Amino acid sequence: MADEVNPLVILGSGPAGLTAAMYSARANLAPLVIEGLEPGGQLTITTEVENYPGFERGIQGPEMMEVFRRQAARFGTRFLSSQVTAADLSRSPFELVTDDRRVRAEALIISSGASAKLLGIDSEKRMMGYGVSACATCDGAFFKDKEVVVVGGGDTAMEEATFLTRFCRKVTIVHRRNLLRASKIMQERATRNPRIVFIWDSMVDEIYGDQKAGVSGVRLKHVVTQALSDFKTDGVFIAIGHQPNTAIFRGQLEMDELGYLTVRPGSTYTNIEGVFAAGDVADRVYRQAVTAAGTGCMAALDAERWLEARHG
Ligand code: NAP
Repeated sequence: MADEVNPLVILGSGPAGLTAAMYSARANLAPLVIEGLEPGGQLTITTEVENYPGFERGIQGPEMMEVFRRQAARFGTRFLSSQVTAADLSRSPFELVTDDRRVRAEALIISSGASAKLLGIDSEKRMMGYGVSACATCDGAFFKDKEVVVVGGGDTAMEEATFLTRFCRKVTIVHRRNLLRASKIMQERATRNPRIVFIWDSMVDEIYGDQKAGVSGVRLKHVVTQALSDFKTDGVFIAIGHQPNTAIFRGQLEMDELGYLTVRPGSTYTNIEGVFAAGDVADRVYRQAVTAAGTGCMAALDAERWLEARHG
């Protein structure tokens, strides 16, 4: 793998990467998927997925990604369980550096995803998928008639909280300041909603519960007085923003001010010939498994046609 030039390398193994792999493997490109830090992507930290078409009764996130992986492998996808730490896109073939080797690629699909920013407390990690979530669209429906907490003060938090009132009896937004960062319109929508209440100047310091019974409450810490208090809740949605996984491409690929890769509208072409982007890494708006899979398919077709044109 060290010296050979791979026709197509795919970075990331979430729905975008594995769909791109399936399509390009079926086109006999024998793609190499570098699986990344979180093999299977963000769906591996969720539990049930009910909104992916084709799974009438829903499916567990990790299991769904296993199915994707097997389907990609079936047609000859190769996998490298590693993480890319540096990339040189200034020459062809492109060069990617992993923990223990260099990988060369004629065409590259970047589907390294985005990671939800998290609070970084142990209980959040333990309860992720068991009452703690970073995606209301994915998990909101599991909280019908329940009371939940949303952490954050930006547009994402307002949007998630507003969405959650479709299911939840009560949504409490916990924000670390007494001023929201969210846009006026999103603030108004949330503050007008009778099911949404706010707790200001506070951080979630601990999440109570266990994986069997789910979340039972949180401990709040007042950022001014440092006072601790317990708050009963059935679920916690962390909505403090997302981080696209694009750090290694800074200065090489065009991205927006938040670091999402920019693609030519209606395609997956980046500003560098032969480099394509799919999934959440280039999508700050939709961020759904099905949209990621859709753009993964587009990237595979774009890459295949680009390679074909290059070889005449
Ligand atoms: P954001 O604007 O960066 O807001 C993040 C929020 O989380 C801030 O209120 C921040 O508090 C809080 N926060 C960050 N780290 C925290 C921590 N460790 N503990 C507790 N709170 C923490 O992110 P976003 O809301 O995801 O929005 C990102 C971008 O997408 C924005 O440009 C936004 O306008 C856009 N967006 C738009 C829409 C829409 O228009 N429909 C929907 C979603 C997102 P501080 O305020 O104290 O920093």
